[in-house]
Amino acid sequence: MSLTAAAEVLAFDREHLWHPYTSMTEPAPVRLVTGAEGARLRLADGREVVDGMASWWSAIHGYRHPALDRAVTEQAGRFSHVMFGGLTHEPAVELGRRLVEVTPAGLEKVFLADSGSVAVEVALKMALQYQRGVGRPGRTRMLTVLGGYHGDTFDCMSVTDPVGGMHAMWRGLLPQQVFGERPPSYGAPADEVARWEAGFRALAAEHAGELAGLVVEPLLQGAGGMHPYPERCLRVFREVADEHGLVLVFDEIATGFGRTGHLFVSEVVTPDILCVGKALTGGYLTLAAVVTTAAVAHGISGSEAGVVMHGPTFMGNALACAVASASIDLLLAGDWRADVRRIGDRLADGLAPLREAPGVADVRTLGAVGVVQLDHPVDVAAATEAALAAGVWLRPFRDLVYAMPPYVTSDEDLGRLVAGIAAAVAAG
Ligand SMILES: *Cc1c(COP(=O)(O)O)cnc(C)c1O
Repeated sequence: MSLTAAAEVLAFDREHLWHPYTSMTEPAPVRLVTGAEGARLRLADGREVVDGMASWWSAIHGYRHPALDRAVTEQAGRFSHVMFGGLTHEPAVELGRRLVEVTPAGLEKVFLADSGSVAVEVALKMALQYQRGVGRPGRTRMLTVLGGYHGDTFDCMSVTDPVGGMHAMWRGLLPQQVFGERPPSYGAPADEVARWEAGFRALAAEHAGELAGLVVEPLLQGAGGMHPYPERCLRVFREVADEHGLVLVFDEIATGFGRTGHLFVSEVVTPDILCVGKALTGGYLTLAAVVTTAAVAHGISGSEAGVVMHGPTFMGNALACAVASASIDLLLAGDWRADVRRIGDRLADGLAPLREAPGVADVRTLGAVGVVQLDHPVDVAAATEAALAAGVWLRPFRDLVYAMPPYVTSDEDLGRLVAGIAAAVAAG
């Protein structure tokens, strides 16, 4: 693309297109992508940079993977989409078959949603309808923990961290949910975990009569602060849900498909409802799924509606389902565990020296995720520019510079990624 053509595209973008969490009147700079292959993005100025973000956790197999490209084009040659009301098709059924198979036993009823936020909406609605169906219509609130992120629609915001979800601004508009303390850090001493546990159990007991469900991101809170926490807390969530009759929802939209080292964290502790998204289609198309138990499905059928009251226009989109099945097959056929371990080891080794760097508060890794927390808010523009100068695409936020690269990222590119993170930390 010529420089003038690129400038024209960027000028229109700046004038007319909103980007995530940005101002239309004072837009932050954006970079123009003209191609992407493997773990790299090509920018309009000719630079090729290592993608440390995997397009927000989604592009686990990298870009332009031949098997995924083929899945899309083959399905496009049949049909791209038909309504899911009253019709069905093999791509949806094949994806459903795989989701039932790869998620833990007992999770067997699948709702195909068109984005992560919609999946969480559906999960919350299912929890509420379930309680109505089993004769507990007074249970209308959700229990969660501080520091979470569950999407940007209103009900999703209501269970997202009150600061992250800007609850003060939305007072009176958001459902009022019940928030427990954020779980302690991964590797926290047992007495700290026990203190958190006692507090959380007491809070649940206090509110039990009004609670429909318990919704959390298991093991790793993502956009709410890149915060890994002990597995012990997962068992507490399960026990609390069982003790008080709450529907346990695990939002694995970020953690699903291997990112933490588990195919799903739900293998460690199984929830009643599992939400997946982001990496579901290998980053190709927007799609999410809500997978639940026969017991929840039967409970919902007992509610006055008798059905799940949700049905998006693009439910079960055939292109998205076809590429999702291809992505799952690719993941299972390869050695994703070894790749996630390899990436995790490289990030842990490479980032460890940054612990001593000025302005760094903490360095942590889990699975194929590496996080550097600063002791001040990141200068996003400066950090992004420094990473790009080192040949790396990063998108820091708040006080965090972090990476969760595609699983196909080579050792050489991981070396570059670590250098890019270090440059961003030094500049930010
Ligand atoms: C990204 C994310 C969502 C929202 O998904 P969208 O597809 O962006 O709507 C919900 N929950 C978690 C844990 C996420 O990481």
